Amino acid sequence: MKVGLIRCMQTEDMCPATTCFKVMDTKKLAFRDVEEEIEVIGVNTCGGCPGKKAVTRAAEMVKRGADTIVLASCITRGNPIGFACPHAEQMKAAIERKVGESIKMIDYTH
Ligand code: SF4
Repeated sequence: MKVGLIRCMQTEDMCPATTCFKVMDTKKLAFRDVEEEIEVIGVNTCGGCPGKKAVTRAAEMVKRGADTIVLASCITRGNPIGFACPHAEQMKAAIERKVGESIKMIDYTH
């Protein structure tokens, strides 16, 4: 699995994505059923509210080899401060439309 990870720009200054990398490394939680090797192609933020840049950034990671776009839990679950992104569903839908059905999407990490 080649992962392109998108994270919340608001969370960037408080979280170094340690747990996101750890769950990929140990194949836990969102990655518990993955049997193949997990390679991180890139990490980028949504670009700031309302997250429109996530769409082209995800597409760029696909261009660079990602076969799976992962929305970090800061977006969909509000980790670590319990404040989920109000644009998460719209962002996910727009990314899905842009990258197409051949690209897998995972909407949380932990
Ligand atoms: S759009 Fe959502 S994910 Fe992006 S910075 Fe704003 S709250 Fe965070």
